[in-house]
Amino acid sequence: MKSLDFLQAANRCLVDGQWVGEPVDPVLNPATGAALAKVPCFGGEMAEEAVNAAGRAFGSWSTVTAGERARLLYDWFAEIIAHKERLARLLTMEQGKPLREARAEVEYAASFVRFYAEEARRIYGETIPSQRCSERILVARQAVGVMAAITPWNFPAAMVTRKVAPALAAGCTVVLKPAPETPLTALALAFLAQKVGFPAGVLNVVTGDAVAIGKVLTEHPKVRAVSFTGSSEVGKLLMRQAAATVKRVGLELGGNAPFIVFDDADIDAAVDGLVASKFRNMGQTCVCVNRIYVQVGIHDAFVVRLKARIEALSVGNGMDEGVTQGPLINKSAVLKIEQQIEDAVTRGARIIVGGRKHRLGGTYFEPTLITDVSSDMLVTREETFGPLAPVYRFSHEADVIKQSNDSPAGLASYFYTRDLSRAFRIAEALQFGMVGINSVNLSVDNAPFGGVKESGLGREGSRHGIEEYTDLKYILIGGL
Ligand code: ADP
Repeated sequence: MKSLDFLQAANRCLVDGQWVGEPVDPVLNPATGAALAKVPCFGGEMAEEAVNAAGRAFGSWSTVTAGERARLLYDWFAEIIAHKERLARLLTMEQGKPLREARAEVEYAASFVRFYAEEARRIYGETIPSQRCSERILVARQAVGVMAAITPWNFPAAMVTRKVAPALAAGCTVVLKPAPETPLTALALAFLAQKVGFPAGVLNVVTGDAVAIGKVLTEHPKVRAVSFTGSSEVGKLLMRQAAATVKRVGLELGGNAPFIVFDDADIDAAVDGLVASKFRNMGQTCVCVNRIYVQVGIHDAFVVRLKARIEALSVGNGMDEGVTQGPLINKSAVLKIEQQIEDAVTRGARIIVGGRKHRLGGTYFEPTLITDVSSDMLVTREETFGPLAPVYRFSHEADVIKQSNDSPAGLASYFYTRDLSRAFRIAEALQFGMVGINSVNLSVDNAPFGGVKESGLGREGSRHGIEEYTDLKYILIGGL
């Protein structure tokens, strides 16, 4: 298998320009349950070494020209694209998503590297009219320092570059701790970064004990920014840990996305959007639709069309041609979806399609549609992170807004309508960081991705994403 070249490079960690550690922790292929490779199991000590290396590298990296940082980022982008197929195969093997989605993820991941290569040269300051003729006020943007990134398993490539590329562009140096389920793609990306010539210590990757490494990354005084994507529970813990040294904290936590279909919507477009958003990555994204509210006038027609589309999904090993649904990441993901279905059915929901573990065994699960869902069910309150589509029926606009907003999460939301005034009214009323109107394609490199309420802090992507890694410096010049 060609990807093994990458695995050989990716079974050690990168600290201060050296590949270190012994391969110990197995990385499993969720499609087969077999071990793919092993990675080092480091604790806090190696995390500290990595932070110190990043601290040493910061002095020179933050002072080379923006053009030089941009050049390396462009070269990294080109390497990622040149290795797209091998990276995609590696990604599918460790994460499970269909190869077509893995290829799209590698392109999406690379797009952040290119975007922030461009943006590196646009970190502008300001001049402000001063109070005195003899003075001038300048405002500069400077890199915050060492940045620590902790990333999840659902987008093993894109969540790395969405954090690392803007930080490097700004002049920060980085210590990355990838998810234990999917460290290989992250290590392969670091391998390519090293290959194009990022200096030693600028990008470090440490795998191993999440708690011990996380503690160092959030408590070490040299780390000035922490960026995390993952569960709300861990995000809150990291925020508390980072408080003692008052670090910048960027958090992309859980969502509970509503998807509202009004009577006047284009039903086919809504069904297309729903299937794309709900079943992408087997439902394992934080912007996946979680609650589907359909207005009474079109409810039945919508359910009929959705049922047909869900029945046409193809479950299997993501490496196989034509597969649209791979395995779930692990057994607890299967347990969670089973609990939500059981709870919903006990409280009166009806299973229209699916509802059980797939006959392929392992962590494969049948794409599932349930109707007659109500707000007292577990599926309303919890993020599913799996291929379960629950449909609620609603009559009035005011009620559906109230129900949609009745969640501590506020990441993505979607609605379908052809009424322009309704489009503005609803978009403004939804308490979410992102709203898709007649579209589910929120995730792009040049738009600000992020949530409100307990879904997180800060934005990733777009010019706003780079601001997370810069501080404003106010320079007053007198005696002129
Ligand atoms: P999930 O439950 O979906 O795996 P997590 O929030 O547990 O989500 O994981 C996201 C990332 O956070 C992973 O890289 C994981 O290793 C890391 N992580 C989990 N617990 C901690 C912790 N206590 N400190 C630092 N990182 C952690």
